[in-house]
Amino acid sequence: MPIFEYMCDSCGTVFEELESVTNRDKPHECPACGKKKGRRIVSTFATSGGGPAASCGTGGVT
Ligand SMILES: [Zn+2]
Repeated sequence: MPIFEYMCDSCGTVFEELESVTNRDKPHECPACGKKKGRRIVSTFATSGGGPAASCGTGGVT
Protein backbone atom coordinates (compact mmCIF):
# COMPACT_ATOMS: atom_id res chain seq x y z
CA MET A 1 0.00 0.00 0.00
CA PRO A 2 1.52 3.31 -1.02
CA ILE A 3 2.36 5.98 1.49
CA PHE A 4 1.82 9.59 0.52
CA GLU A 5 2.96 12.79 2.10
CA TYR A 6 0.55 15.45 3.20
CA MET A 7 1.06 18.98 4.34
CA CYS A 8 -1.26 20.66 6.77
CA ASP A 9 -2.87 23.75 5.33
CA SER A 10 -3.27 25.17 8.80
CA CYS A 11 0.14 24.76 10.45
CA GLY A 12 2.36 23.49 7.66
CA THR A 13 3.22 20.18 9.27
CA VAL A 14 4.22 17.47 6.84
CA PHE A 15 3.06 13.97 7.66
CA GLU A 16 2.69 10.62 5.97
CA GLU A 17 -0.38 8.50 5.65
CA LEU A 18 -1.34 5.33 3.95
CA GLU A 19 -3.38 6.01 0.87
CA SER A 20 -6.05 3.37 0.89
CA VAL A 21 -9.23 3.22 -1.11
CA THR A 22 -11.34 3.77 1.96
CA ASN A 23 -9.65 6.94 3.18
CA ARG A 24 -8.72 8.48 -0.14
CA ASP A 25 -11.73 10.74 -0.26
CA LYS A 26 -11.61 11.62 3.39
CA PRO A 27 -9.85 14.72 4.68
CA HIS A 28 -6.54 13.89 6.30
CA GLU A 29 -6.23 14.96 9.88
CA CYS A 30 -3.06 16.76 10.87
CA PRO A 31 -1.29 14.98 13.77
CA ALA A 32 0.09 18.28 15.04
CA CYS A 33 -2.93 20.55 15.23
CA GLY A 34 -5.72 18.02 14.70
CA LYS A 35 -7.34 19.94 11.90
CA LYS A 36 -8.45 18.12 8.80
CA LYS A 37 -6.36 20.26 6.51
CA GLY A 38 -4.00 17.67 5.08
CA ARG A 39 -3.18 18.40 1.49
CA ARG A 40 -1.40 15.84 -0.60
CA ILE A 41 2.13 16.59 -1.70
CA VAL A 42 3.22 15.29 -5.06
CA SER A 43 6.60 13.69 -4.69
CA THR A 44 9.17 14.83 -7.22
CA PHE A 45 10.55 11.37 -7.79
CA ALA A 46 7.14 10.06 -8.68
CA THR A 47 6.90 12.12 -11.83
CA SER A 48 7.18 10.23 -15.06
CA GLY A 49 9.90 10.94 -17.57
CA GLY A 50 12.74 8.54 -16.94
CA GLY A 51 14.91 7.83 -13.95
CA PRO A 52 18.07 9.69 -12.98
CA ALA A 53 20.28 6.88 -14.22
CA ALA A 54 18.79 6.95 -17.68
CA SER A 55 19.74 10.51 -18.52
CA CYS A 56 23.40 10.47 -17.58
CA GLY A 57 25.99 8.85 -19.81
CA THR A 58 26.71 9.06 -23.48
CA GLY A 59 24.95 11.58 -25.68
CA GLY A 60 24.41 11.19 -29.37
CA VAL A 61 24.54 7.47 -29.80
CA THR A 62 24.27 6.53 -33.41
ZN1 LIG B 1 -1.79 21.15 11.30
